[in-house]
Amino acid sequence: MLYRELDRKLIWHPFTHQKNAEDNLYIERAEGSWLYDDKGKKYLDAISSWWVNIHGHAHPKIAGAISAQASKLEHIIFAGFTHKPAIELAEKILPLLPGEFTKVFYSDNGSTATEVALKMSVQYWWNTSGKHSRKKILAFRNSYHGDTFGAMSVSDRGVFTLAFHDMLFEVLFIDTPTAENLEATLRTIEEQGNDIACFIYEPLVQGAGGMKIYDAQHLDRILEKAKQQGIICIADEVMTGFGRTGKLFASEYMDIRPDIICLSKGLTGGALPLSITACTSWIHDAYVQDDKTKTFFHGHSYTANPIACAAAVASLELLTEPSCRQAIDRITAAHQKFASHLLEQQLPLLNIRTIGTILAFEVDEGQHQYLNVAGNIIGRSALEKGLYIRPLGNTVYLMPPYCVTANESTTMYSVLTETLYRSIGNW
Ligand code: PMP
Repeated sequence: MLYRELDRKLIWHPFTHQKNAEDNLYIERAEGSWLYDDKGKKYLDAISSWWVNIHGHAHPKIAGAISAQASKLEHIIFAGFTHKPAIELAEKILPLLPGEFTKVFYSDNGSTATEVALKMSVQYWWNTSGKHSRKKILAFRNSYHGDTFGAMSVSDRGVFTLAFHDMLFEVLFIDTPTAENLEATLRTIEEQGNDIACFIYEPLVQGAGGMKIYDAQHLDRILEKAKQQGIICIADEVMTGFGRTGKLFASEYMDIRPDIICLSKGLTGGALPLSITACTSWIHDAYVQDDKTKTFFHGHSYTANPIACAAAVASLELLTEPSCRQAIDRITAAHQKFASHLLEQQLPLLNIRTIGTILAFEVDEGQHQYLNVAGNIIGRSALEKGLYIRPLGNTVYLMPPYCVTANESTTMYSVLTETLYRSIGNW
């Protein structure tokens, strides 16, 4: 049986409609910005494989680190044991983070990173205030923080969470700030602040919610108010971290820094699953008690996997090289130029926007939502021409790896423009 047929028979893929699903693309190898299928066709990975791949595929430095670590210490339980890659990564990453972070807690993916952050915050109040602890959680509408139950609870109630609404815990949702709603939101936070344990937010860009960008100064006001109320501020930088928005972390656009930060995706350069939830010393202090019930009872079998940590150390070294900064700046400028070019086209596009290495717009076609078919048609049409994008409903976006060359960017933009002309209206 062909591999493609075996795949269809044996495997249930994520976020994939199961009736009449098309065959999955069979990728044999990948290098730099390119994916190669079994028929020899190549595709430019313009969304960095679900936003994880920052330095390009099969990067020799990351591959080398993985290989060296795999033959030395592949894995060890992380309770009662430690190892060099975990320590080295913590030592390297903490000084780079946007805030007074002193401890890292490792887990495996973005959802667990946010889950850990929520539990760490709620238990902080339980550890410090007992039965008077704060229990409410504040989050933005249209947010996405992952697929586990806690992460779903603090995410927007939408198509992803529909089947579970009765089972998700209650959250105080506020709109992302605008000049119009800001004062009312600040009042809500002030009124309910004494009950709010933490506030979780995707700084400046709501990724899965449609690459929605909002204002840094307004977010700063919300963070300022939240801090005044003693609310723990959790920046979910799972998508925005590691240079995506032009700065190393999106939180750097604000004056007020988070108390907890969640990182994953780009952490290992997209090579292996790993995540970090980092916190300030005062949060950790709440767990330093004689009472053993105040322990943070959380951990995963693969916590701080040494191979993944070694990949992350290699990826961070690449990220902090001046050439990587230059690459991010080059993509940022190229995106801005392409955004102006798109504005001049005779295409029904709305809200063309960029921030750092992210460019997004809506196709003005039907409802603005994830199940809008426009995205599928545009995505399929681009793929035929060797460009891999994965629109979120009618929101089309580009988020290439930083290794994308000027020539490859030109290809990416021209294939996308051509695709839009070819497919818009042909639904
Ligand atoms: N938080 C944010 C902001 C995300 O964008 C994502 C994934 N798209 C997650 C959390 C969940 O990450 P993962 O898919 O690795 O569980």
